Amino acid sequence: MIEEKLFIAGRWTHVASTIPIEDPSTGEKIGTLAAGRASDVDAAVNAAAKAYTGAWGKLTAAERGRILMKMSGAVAAKADALADLEARDVGKPLKQARADALALSRYLEFYAGAADKLHGETIPYLADYTVYTLREPHGVTAHIVPWNYPMQIIGRSVVGALAAGNATVVKPAEEASLTALAFARIAQECGLPDGAMNVVTGIGEETGAALAAHPGIHHLSFTGSTSVGALVQAAAGRNAVPVTLELGGKSPQIVFADADIERALPFLVNAGIQNAGQTCSAASRLLVERKIYEPLLEKLGERYRALRVGAAKDDLDVGPLISAPQKKRVEEFIAQGKNGHRVIAEGKIEASAPRGGHFVAPVLFADVAPEHTLARDEIFGPVQVVIPFDTEEDAIRIANGTDYGLVAGVWTRDGSRALRMARAIHTGQMFINNYGAGGGVELPFGGTGRSGHGREKGFEALYAFTRLKTVAAFHG
Ligand code: NAD
Repeated sequence: MIEEKLFIAGRWTHVASTIPIEDPSTGEKIGTLAAGRASDVDAAVNAAAKAYTGAWGKLTAAERGRILMKMSGAVAAKADALADLEARDVGKPLKQARADALALSRYLEFYAGAADKLHGETIPYLADYTVYTLREPHGVTAHIVPWNYPMQIIGRSVVGALAAGNATVVKPAEEASLTALAFARIAQECGLPDGAMNVVTGIGEETGAALAAHPGIHHLSFTGSTSVGALVQAAAGRNAVPVTLELGGKSPQIVFADADIERALPFLVNAGIQNAGQTCSAASRLLVERKIYEPLLEKLGERYRALRVGAAKDDLDVGPLISAPQKKRVEEFIAQGKNGHRVIAEGKIEASAPRGGHFVAPVLFADVAPEHTLARDEIFGPVQVVIPFDTEEDAIRIANGTDYGLVAGVWTRDGSRALRMARAIHTGQMFINNYGAGGGVELPFGGTGRSGHGREKGFEALYAFTRLKTVAAFHG
């Protein structure tokens, strides 16, 4: 049985109350996490503040980069072990979990290299002045992380903040904290000074809420649901703390009749069922030009029928959902869909899938009205809806017809149309003749509307994790 503690100021801290850790593939308890209290959050924020003014804050940017580069190598070397842990904790098929570990290593590599390339500017001004800007870290940054991609989200959020010179407090999701704690061990082994990264596990409403409301944090990065995002923004707002919100989505892929369908097909399906559809940027809506609607449905159906669902360790196409409540929620959406919609195809749960696991067979629905809940609400399960359209204007109206705007894809051989669509769609990332671009740690990511605000990934994140100071010197 796993027994995890809190990681504060470089020490592993025991607390009395615990949260069970469940393996979503079996439904069995595999250990316990520490349930951090408000006083533990306080200790973590104080430890970060001390690191910021102490050993960590005194390092040069190049020295910070070297530590992050060492961590990148260590994470890559332990990718299999981390993948194993993530597969047990999140239920992610092993290959997908391994890809997350390698993405974390790549974030570390990217931000290690960027740490000493972040600088201010000089600004031409009055004759007797020299004016320049300094990019300074905020100080203590807080990071509230969801359960669906723990390693990737730590990579794009915590690692960027560290590269910029902040000291961090991480609150992973209560459903999936194990790789955050494993990462803390790796960081310590690689020489990250005590207190530069603290990990406080616990329940969202207690530990997370205490962190969001803490007056000692100077920036909050939240990834999770839109409803909790609104709560943490309000809490941080009371201390005038800036917030990055990475929230949900209902992202479309738009397929025109002139598209290269064979190239598009794997992207259309994989972007819907990867991580069992529990992906903020999942392509949960497929908008298809009517001229190719029925033949494309047939091809999509073939792919769906071949999808195999099973335990994470069996490394099939789709693993279990994270928990029983999440499974129930997704099944309710599917039941609503089956009541009156055309089911094109369903995937198959393997006979070997353990009985207690939270498995849901992927479902592809067609002819869904754009205003229906299936086409508007984030389901967060392996469910895609296909919606026909007739004109470019139609496609734009339907694509922009939800409260979200995170990611979108367009498939067409008409270059001018692709560029018009890229302008017209409300989204944080737009993909032309691809979807996701292989993850791309270099590519700024974030939402519009209810998908949130602020950007992580790429160099853009470093601007968010620093504040600009203007220095105006009069020298006569
Ligand atoms: P969630 O909002 O329930 O939880 C996210 C985190 O917030 C967890 O660590 C949780 O413990 C914490 N939390 C919960 N209540 C809190 C509170 N009152 N105060 C402070 N913290 C609290 O989300 P989830 O169910 O874990 O994740 C799924 C959601 O995350 C989906 O909507 C998904 O789209 C979104 N998501 C977005 C992105 C993105 O980059 N935009 C990435 C991954 C997931």
